[in-house]
Amino acid sequence: MLSKEEIEKYKTQLEQEKRRILVEIEKAEPQDFGGDVESDLSEESDEAEDMNDQLAVQASLKETLSEVDLALARIQKGTYGKCEKCGADIETRVLDLVPESALCENCKLEI
Ligand SMILES: [Zn+2]
Repeated sequence: MLSKEEIEKYKTQLEQEKRRILVEIEKAEPQDFGGDVESDLSEESDEAEDMNDQLAVQASLKETLSEVDLALARIQKGTYGKCEKCGADIETRVLDLVPESALCENCKLEI
């Protein structure tokens, strides 16, 4: 069972992480590639590749962001730190590394 202080600590970490992710998402926002459609082909495919990379980065950032949001919601509900699969307390060493973790170490390994 996590103490109030521990939950407060993870909450601060989660809020910091959320701010960091929002900044990263902003940075990874695809730039306007639509400008010069008549540019030569090789250049165009480079741009498409860049955009794919950025979309992939954004997708993973958004995934992490939703996990962080879910963790913050669990703090509100008072269920933070409980494994969503087996209901056991999530090890603090897991939460120290990944505060948005929703699974205990055992359940994580089973995925
Ligand atoms: Zn579990």
